[in-house]
Amino acid sequence: MKIHEYQARQILADQGVPVPPAEVVRTPNEAVAAFEKFNQPMCVVKAQVYAGGRGKAGFVKLVKSADEARKAAEFMLSNRMVSNQTGPEGVPVSVLIVAPGVDIAKEYYLGITLDRGRGTATLIASAEGGVEIEEVAKKSPEKVLKVPLHPLIGLQGFQARELAYKLGFTDKLASEAAKLITNLGKAFIKTDASLAEINPLVVTKDGKLLAIDAKFNFDDNAIFRHPDIAAMRDETQEKPLDVRAHKANLNYIALDGNIGCLVNGAGLAMATMDIIKLHGAEPANFLDVGGSVTPEGAIEAFSIILSDPKVKGILVNIFGGIAKCDLIAEALVKAGRSIGFKVPVVVRLEGTNVDKAREILAAAHKDLPTLQSATDLTDAAKKVTAAVAA
Ligand code: GDP
Ligand code: MG
Repeated sequence: MKIHEYQARQILADQGVPVPPAEVVRTPNEAVAAFEKFNQPMCVVKAQVYAGGRGKAGFVKLVKSADEARKAAEFMLSNRMVSNQTGPEGVPVSVLIVAPGVDIAKEYYLGITLDRGRGTATLIASAEGGVEIEEVAKKSPEKVLKVPLHPLIGLQGFQARELAYKLGFTDKLASEAAKLITNLGKAFIKTDASLAEINPLVVTKDGKLLAIDAKFNFDDNAIFRHPDIAAMRDETQEKPLDVRAHKANLNYIALDGNIGCLVNGAGLAMATMDIIKLHGAEPANFLDVGGSVTPEGAIEAFSIILSDPKVKGILVNIFGGIAKCDLIAEALVKAGRSIGFKVPVVVRLEGTNVDKAREILAAAHKDLPTLQSATDLTDAAKKVTAAVAA
């Protein structure tokens, strides 16, 4: 799960990281009022969206008058933001922040995320932070430092101090930077984050350390432990199908192919995508409906898959372990009758009562002619890829 920058700034501030004040605004008038309230020669107006790359896209603007603040807010609130981190359709903008402008002497990058290769969370840092960090990582990877977090005790004091010196901080700033790094590590662990990023962390012209951008993503599997964070979710920033899937407790990820997949279990869903690719086609989605398959869940899952216009066929791959195959078959037939299968639907069921399930599917063939059974996974992949190619 993602949150907005202003919420991420609050998490950092609560953990003792120095963050400049900011006003959350939703109209150009509110932006003007915020500018006047700060009464500073310069403010920054920033779009609050679930995507980065705002600076380059023109959605982070330095303004020197109330009128400039109004114009920046008007522009941002009436355009979708398209950056290198969004698709060409961009993301809607309905919230902004206005913050006092900072005179920047130098920008640094600090981030913590999971390093699957190392099997632990890893702190990533660079003395060349800012909007070009991706280029730095690509062209001069030696300028990106990595420090693993201990899986049980997290980031340790000596690691933070060593990193502060390696980033070039000296004297008082070095100890402040070490403290800030330690606090970022604490915030990451405490919130069950999957990403905690400050880019840029800046040293101001008058020698202060400040986090002027913040980004947090959270582990969905741990979100139940953080109702305060769960409440921050802004569904207007998410894709409508993702929101529907989330509400129905379905684990759904849209992909580029044309074969929809409806599967129970994440491992089986991965295997299903693999076998579709093995037979020369591409999956349109990953969809794990979870352990039990109910008629309501199946109807919602089919509706979500079918609302993707790219889908030309569906492969249902379900193992009836806890849920029995005949009940699953009945749920699938009920879903088909309720929403209508306009595309071929190939069903591979295996497990308890599978023979009974096949009879149910065969009997439904009359009123659901696009529904067909497969004998095994390979047969299913062959049937669905052939149907889509036809
Ligand atoms: P992002 O592009 O979405 O990561 O948005 P950021 O908040 O990181 O802003 C992008 C860039 O705008 C930063 O790297 C800074 O160079 C610049 N910027 C942001 N806030 C300020 C500010 O208060 N003062 C100055 N001088 N530059 C800023
Ligand atoms: Mg940034």
